[in-house]
Amino acid sequence: MAERLTPNPYSPYADADPATRHLLPSLLGARPKPGGLCPAACGGLAVVPEGTLGDITDLINEGRTAELPPGFCLTCLAVATGREPEPPGTPGVCRECGERSSHGDLCALCRQDLHDAWWPTREQEADRG
Ligand SMILES: [Zn+2]
Ligand SMILES: [Zn+2]
Repeated sequence: MAERLTPNPYSPYADADPATRHLLPSLLGARPKPGGLCPAACGGLAVVPEGTLGDITDLINEGRTAELPPGFCLTCLAVATGREPEPPGTPGVCRECGERSSHGDLCALCRQDLHDAWWPTREQEADRG
């Protein structure tokens, strides 16, 4: 029995489901930088983990999705296997820049900026807690 996948690392600015592991498509063949906040296949934003989903990607590419370990985002899986994506996120207006947002009260770009500022401080917060 395969082990349950570890979810993507936590960020208060990620809006993808925090309980599952998301597929982060590589952009132009380049793997997203670990620790960055990137759009997942399901349309939410998720933190890029260390390490790759190499085996998972192979299973999906080979159509062996029944063998996927538990904990994988089903919406990401649906998109990766060719189903139409859900309309992404929650429509709203960004409270930082005032632009239309599909990620609730913060748009994707502002979430990425705030995440980048927060990410280096996250361990200090953990120490305090
Ligand atoms: Zn997902
Ligand atoms: Zn914004």
